[in-house]
Amino acid sequence: MTDSPTIFERIIAREIPADIVFENDSIIAIRDIAPKAPVHLLVIPKTAKYANVSELATGDPALLAEVVHVARNLAIMHSNGEFRLIFNSGESAGQTVLHVHAHVLSGELHSGELAESSLAN
Ligand code: 5GP
Repeated sequence: MTDSPTIFERIIAREIPADIVFENDSIIAIRDIAPKAPVHLLVIPKTAKYANVSELATGDPALLAEVVHVARNLAIMHSNGEFRLIFNSGESAGQTVLHVHAHVLSGELHSGELAESSLAN
């Protein structure tokens, strides 16, 4: 857990706006502000307890499974059901927000448009 609230905590608390595409008690999903694919959503556990997917897998594997389930459903609703699921883990791997989140990328992903490094901001 970080000392000051991350941008995602502030979105969950409605302190800053976001385009919310799904929400339940444990998860919120929003459109990425800087999309790298025709459909680029972020599936975010509401708890700020886990900084990355490894911590989430160890601490709450059921919640990680729910993240994957929500990602699948969103890919069906917003695209053709096929998707790429990315968890940047660590700053050197491109993670800029240290609150676990999955990138859901879908819709005509051309190899040149979605180099792995393109998610590093
Ligand atoms: P990371 O680089 O940590 O894997 O992913 C963080 C993502 O959050 C980036 O793709 C970035 O575009 C997105 N992001 C950062 N700030 C905001 C924001 O204020 N609103 C939304 N919707 N997305 C944001």
